[in-house]
Amino acid sequence: MTRTPLTTTLDEYEVWFLTGSQHLYGPETLAQVAEQSQQIARTLDEAAEVPVRIVWKPVLTDSASIKRIALEANADERVIGLVAWMHTFSPAKMWIAGLDALQKPLAHLHTQANVELPWADIDFDFMNLNQAAHGDREFGYIQTRLGVPRKTIVGHASDPRLRQELATWQRAAAGLAAARSLKLARFGDNMRFVAVTEGDKTEAELRFGVQVNTWGVNDLADAVAAASSSDIDALVAEYEELYEVAPELRRGGERHQSLRDGAAIEIGLRSFLEEGGFGAFTTSFEDLGALKQLPGLAVQRLMAEGYGFGAEGDWKTAILVRVANVMGAGLPGGASLMEDYTYDMTPGDELILGAHMLEVSPSLTTKKPTLEIHPLGIGGKDDPVRLVFTADPGPAVVVALSDMRDRFRLTANVVENVEPRAALPNLPVGRAVWKPAPDFTTSAAAWLTAGAAHHTVMSTAVGIDAFRDFAEMAEVELLVIDESTTLPGFQNQVRWNAAYHRLAQGL
Ligand code: MN
Repeated sequence: MTRTPLTTTLDEYEVWFLTGSQHLYGPETLAQVAEQSQQIARTLDEAAEVPVRIVWKPVLTDSASIKRIALEANADERVIGLVAWMHTFSPAKMWIAGLDALQKPLAHLHTQANVELPWADIDFDFMNLNQAAHGDREFGYIQTRLGVPRKTIVGHASDPRLRQELATWQRAAAGLAAARSLKLARFGDNMRFVAVTEGDKTEAELRFGVQVNTWGVNDLADAVAAASSSDIDALVAEYEELYEVAPELRRGGERHQSLRDGAAIEIGLRSFLEEGGFGAFTTSFEDLGALKQLPGLAVQRLMAEGYGFGAEGDWKTAILVRVANVMGAGLPGGASLMEDYTYDMTPGDELILGAHMLEVSPSLTTKKPTLEIHPLGIGGKDDPVRLVFTADPGPAVVVALSDMRDRFRLTANVVENVEPRAALPNLPVGRAVWKPAPDFTTSAAAWLTAGAAHHTVMSTAVGIDAFRDFAEMAEVELLVIDESTTLPGFQNQVRWNAAYHRLAQGL
């Protein structure tokens, strides 16, 4: 059986840099256009903030070549999106066929070669060469007329803000590319009677490109049973190096066998996922078959490596965790399944305590987690091993995906992770404590109004802007709760969005 280890990197991707012009100005001007656009593409490619390689393409001056490059971009798996800039003026009818054919995300870069105008020397040759100010307006018109989803990025290539916007868009495009090639394995079905974790898997494949399918949990249990004793030895040694392992779990400790059982689960799960080419998975505590423990430690470690995961059969959140892991590749912080669990309702200083039974990714902390074993009343299996830690303080975002029957809805809340008010010696799970924006009551009321789920992805690597770009390019509704949110405004947005999305999708 061939095994495909999961990669979570932006290194294999490309963004193509397209420049629009026309033949009106003659070959000399077009040569200058080519030179200047190569310079801009190179500046952006070399910028440290910009994570994905930018590949300059020859200047486009007619409809046939524009359509051809759109089709080439569609067909090339390395290409996650296109950046287009209209240096000079590119009559936009020549972009109709290409934009209509394009299936990759588009960023409209509105820039120019120079920062300052050469006021004392400016002549009409300069004006003709440097007219993106109106060339890009022509391009904006045709994109809007055709309804092309895109991000418009304005500024000079030397501006760090512009580079950051481009970087964020690239990360979102990488997340979408990862979704479009994602295979998700469900072990067991959803937790019985739960509504919000249900959803339309066929629509998910059309909208996000994710293949969501179910395997019997005993197929996984067979893979776990096949874990070799020497592989288990090696993995246990790795645990003892990476984590503060509780004495009872260490070699020679009285519960060491439970750690070995946990290691076998990781080995079996990993081999199953790699053999199937899966990048995300779900489990269900109601359907553990011959597994000895609810997978905790294994799930935590796989999430930290880049896998998507959802508990209780929640494949929608598993997609988000995978997408967020790819979007944040190479950045400090991470992405994890999270669940709004319980509140500190101190008036004016409310906090949310988030956790799960076990499955929170240690990528949320820079500290060394402890590896412990404790009873778990749910699931009826042996006590599971798990990593215990608290997410680092700092900015974060939580995002949920709900199936609204006629469409998917993303709901996001900008939050700030904080230290717990006291040590949590009796809460042996991975957890995060946060303050939601704009304030607790507005956030919670807006979240409930949106019908957003109790499961989320928490990202501490990328923020709300990456999810805005992702929603735009995936053409999925996104409701944002942030510093600017008011409840009446949010309620109106929910109503208007319902009408908009039903109209926008047509019959
Ligand atoms: Mn849950």
